[in-house]
Amino acid sequence: MHSSFLKQRSGISKRSVIIPIILILALFFAAGFYMITIAREFYYQEKVKEASLLARSYAESLGIIIDAEYQLDQQMHSTLNVAGAILSKYAEPFTDEVLAEFAEYLEVDVIYLYNQNLELTHSSDSNFIGWQSEEGHPTQNFHASGMMSFVEEIRRNTTSGILYKYGYYRFPDNRMVQVGLLAETISELYAQFDSQYLINELMEHNIHAQIVFLDNAGQIIASSSPDYNEIMVNATKHNLPVMFGEYRNIEWEGTPYLVYRMPIRVKDVLSGSLLLFYDMRVAENLLSGLILVISITLGLFFLLFSYSIMHTHRKNQHIVTIAYHDELTGLPNHRYFNELVSESHSTPLTCLILNPKNFKAINLMYGYAYGNEVLIHISDILSALQNRQENLQVFRISDDRFIILMHSHERQKQTDALIASMQLLGSQYQDVNSLDFSIGIASSYTAGHDPSLLIKQASIALNATSEESFVQEYDSSMEELLLHNDTIEQELKRAIRGEEGILSLAFQPIVNAKSTNIYGFEALARLESPKLGTIPPLEFISLAEQRHLIIPLGDKIIDLATDFLHTIQEHFDENIHVAINISALQVIEKNFTSKLQKLAERKQINLNQVELELTESLFTQDLHFIASQLRELRQLGIYISIDDFGTGFSSLSRLGSLEIDILKLDRLFVTPLGETGDRSLVTDIISMAHHLGKQVIAEGVETEAQRHYLKEAHCDFLQGYLLSKPLAYSDAILLLEQETTYDT
Ligand code: C2E
Ligand code: MG
Ligand code: MG
Repeated sequence: MHSSFLKQRSGISKRSVIIPIILILALFFAAGFYMITIAREFYYQEKVKEASLLARSYAESLGIIIDAEYQLDQQMHSTLNVAGAILSKYAEPFTDEVLAEFAEYLEVDVIYLYNQNLELTHSSDSNFIGWQSEEGHPTQNFHASGMMSFVEEIRRNTTSGILYKYGYYRFPDNRMVQVGLLAETISELYAQFDSQYLINELMEHNIHAQIVFLDNAGQIIASSSPDYNEIMVNATKHNLPVMFGEYRNIEWEGTPYLVYRMPIRVKDVLSGSLLLFYDMRVAENLLSGLILVISITLGLFFLLFSYSIMHTHRKNQHIVTIAYHDELTGLPNHRYFNELVSESHSTPLTCLILNPKNFKAINLMYGYAYGNEVLIHISDILSALQNRQENLQVFRISDDRFIILMHSHERQKQTDALIASMQLLGSQYQDVNSLDFSIGIASSYTAGHDPSLLIKQASIALNATSEESFVQEYDSSMEELLLHNDTIEQELKRAIRGEEGILSLAFQPIVNAKSTNIYGFEALARLESPKLGTIPPLEFISLAEQRHLIIPLGDKIIDLATDFLHTIQEHFDENIHVAINISALQVIEKNFTSKLQKLAERKQINLNQVELELTESLFTQDLHFIASQLRELRQLGIYISIDDFGTGFSSLSRLGSLEIDILKLDRLFVTPLGETGDRSLVTDIISMAHHLGKQVIAEGVETEAQRHYLKEAHCDFLQGYLLSKPLAYSDAILLLEQETTYDT
């Protein structure tokens, strides 16, 4: 399950793949369509050209044939005419034999001679002699026409019924001769020049076309399908080309044809037209094959392109995944967080930084491999939480910092769940010195979230967590505190570098309770900041400890305090002690004693007037080592006192075994002494301390009543505002010069 309130950054969007693929597909479609159209058009034009050439050649052939037929007709005419003319010039009286000879000579089949009354007088075959022409007979018609000669179309002999082509010739004396050619002979001759015959011939060599020969009226004269001959064709009705040179695509009896119309001319005279039906089946099959090849090729290219786009996409996706995820845990990383938050419109948004506090120590103690295991374990638990909780997203932004992003209004519930998970996890790592977590929380309430601000504020909150409150929510005072502490740190560094006027010491007198003489001074550090004014030592000392500045700062303080001691030792005989507050971190420093020794040698001071004030927190350290350190210090003549005694964890028995000279009874015990009530506790502590051979300084003595009581209880030394506030160097020296005592 994924969080719904945040737009997931799954890497590169699918759109970046789909869009190019669709574009390429469209491009390929367009290219394919264009290529096919071009190919079809080209191929079609080729076919048109072919068809028109074919039609032209057929039309020419037909024209020639028609012309040849005409020529033949002319030939027939002249044969019959010549025969008639020659006979008319013949002077001898005709006999049948003479006519027979003429017929043979002139290569005609029959010759008949008629007298003026149209009675057949002579015949080349000796038939029909004495036959009388009747009214309406062709001979009668010619005779009546007054023409000199005439050639008839082929007709049957009215008597024999045999087909002949006859020619007539009129003699000057109005007799006439009829010359006949047997149609049988003529048609053999004619057959070679017949258009149907030609079409049949042509069709033998061409299986891709059909030919139709129309006369000028549109009737079919001859065709490759003779069944249609003599039918009248209506071009418009049958969607056939009307104009010459025009072509049309038609489908006829299920076959696609390209139809082309061509004129047939005989000696420039239009004799009819030719319709060429070009069978487009082969062409279309070829074209379909071509389309298939183009489609397959483009299809393959498309697949290739798509594959390479997908491949690149997957690769990029992988790169993006790497770029946006943490390598160790696989959780989204800092970059992911930044982009997600800046793009999120969900408000308010809450960011938790989870930090395993002692992770550095785990790494150092158990090694990095184990540290990594712990981190993976944490990430697993957080991922499980993410799966259980709606609207929650987990990130790992640095080594030991996890971020949990959530809706602010669900925060309480989810934070509780997170804490429970983490506590459970922590309990599983009890062997590793327990795994503790701290959590810093920050929220962004306005859209246009700033991821770095969110992280910064959550980190500030994290920084403000403590042992007591391991969950902190950011508020602006934390940031101010951070700034404040930073300023202090800068001042501390300047002080450590030795800049004048920042670090100084105040000296508070410690007074002998009985004699009221000054026993010594406690050196109290003072930090004066030009920006922040006087900074309380409790504040800057603990900051110096946190920021690892306490050693050099402590050295500086020891330096100033021993300067003061040097002055005392130089000018006053008395055994005046100087008490210096020392942090536990200074004591556990290995060369601490040797450093003090060298200092004493360098400054020519006697260390048996030095008292080091240590707090009870020291006893949380390695006691064995502490004991040896104290022993060494003691050997240098240094006195050891326990500051704020009674507020910490030290037991009197432990104190007995350590080289401790003085207990400084905390103000907490001293303050109530002025009032009525049980005072026996203080009396008991003092007497027990004496019993263990230790002296007691009472801190924070503010009233005479307290002083009185402490004196009664045999407290050795007193310190407090009643006697003196901490004083400046010169004022402290002045006290010694004046040999001040503190009587009541
Ligand atoms: P502390 O060592 O217990 O020092 C005594 C603190 O009590 C001093 O506060 C002092 O001014 C204050 N005081 C003395 N008499 C009275 C009194 O009658 N009434 C009240 N209310 N207060 C009194 P100060 O100077 O603010 O120091 C606070 C703490 O800072 C010291 O407590 C000590 O723990 C630490 N500190 C001061 N200087 C140093 C230093 O040089 N090094 C280290 N490590 N810690 C220091
Ligand atoms: Mg002190
Ligand atoms: Mg104290």
